[in-house]
Amino acid sequence: MDSNDSASLSARRKRTRDQVVAILADHGNGLTRASLSRMTGLSASAISDCVSFLRASGLVVESSAPGKASGRGRRATVISLVSDEGVVVGIDFGHSHVSAAAATTAGEVLHRCAAAIDVDHRPGPAMDLAAELARECLQRSGHTLDDVLGIAAGIPGPLDIRTQVVRPPTILADWVGLAPAAELERRLGHPVSIGNDADMGARGEQAYGAARGLEDFLYIKASHGIGAGIIVGGRPYRGATGIAGEIGHTQIPGAGNWCRCGSRGCLETVVSVTTVRRQLAHVLATHEDSLDDSAVPPLAELSDNPAAARVLSEAGRTVGRVLAGLVNCLNPSALVLGGELGAGNEPFAAGIRESVARYAQPASAQAAEVRTGRLGAEAEVRGAIAAAIAATRIQLTGTN
Ligand SMILES: [Zn+2]
Repeated sequence: MDSNDSASLSARRKRTRDQVVAILADHGNGLTRASLSRMTGLSASAISDCVSFLRASGLVVESSAPGKASGRGRRATVISLVSDEGVVVGIDFGHSHVSAAAATTAGEVLHRCAAAIDVDHRPGPAMDLAAELARECLQRSGHTLDDVLGIAAGIPGPLDIRTQVVRPPTILADWVGLAPAAELERRLGHPVSIGNDADMGARGEQAYGAARGLEDFLYIKASHGIGAGIIVGGRPYRGATGIAGEIGHTQIPGAGNWCRCGSRGCLETVVSVTTVRRQLAHVLATHEDSLDDSAVPPLAELSDNPAAARVLSEAGRTVGRVLAGLVNCLNPSALVLGGELGAGNEPFAAGIRESVARYAQPASAQAAEVRTGRLGAEAEVRGAIAAAIAATRIQLTGTN
């Protein structure tokens, strides 16, 4: 074998190891060799080679899976990442808040903190605040930046994965041209992995929440905007340039209001936490008492109010029509709902269920279970933690 062949073989092995480690980081409970083979498309012997290397490097362990005895009474084994010393930091930028959390490399949150800020229009101060919150979480959990193995952050806008720069045109206009990874790295002195907030939410629910064990599902972040995190074959699907899942800008028949993206009649102009709260303020007002939308209680508390439940399920039906198209296209096993509008909101979920059953192809609709997320407002920051853990492991998989 000449040196070119051996260099390409070694690059291929490294890619395989990174892929396996990233998948294991997204499945906290470990996976069998057969699952790894199915999810990577690699042969059993390639997986076996890879696992041997990772075990010898001390990155993974193999242990018997509780309750998973195989046919002849032999216990199935699962491969999982070794937890080690040090901490990771996850950061979540919403449209009007920033939150950060310090966690162990096993994904256990040590401290979380959040603060309100106009993230959309004040990117610089939002970056400063994120760095300050990251430091505060570390300090309160007895750590410093020196103990940090990895940092990841989710941003509420379109990031071009080729350039790591926020894309034009007008969504998140004040962020266009900004390189969030470089900005955070400058403030924290560590490399930072960046992803879209809905992708982070999907990773969070997949690693620690309602999508554990699922390989094909959509996470819907329904909040000030509406975005989808798409997981296909166990891995996030980001599209050619990293901006897949912008379902909030799908045109709704009959809607005509201008959207922040420059089009008319986008889903977000009809359904968002802002429009729904405005409708609820109208519905919940009494004769003596006109209500402004800041007085509307948290949406998850309104499920038992029949009038409010109608508003919420109507919003769900509208979002569900758009999701029905995605269900036809991708045949997911679940739609996991998050964001301020989606988390813990049963009437909204019921509306989505209704539209998916009505408008998606029957066999695909039947396969797609609509469920609310388990992590609520923490899904995105927990996903950033999972991404930080994955990035840390990949640095360790070596080059030989
Ligand atoms: Zn739009």
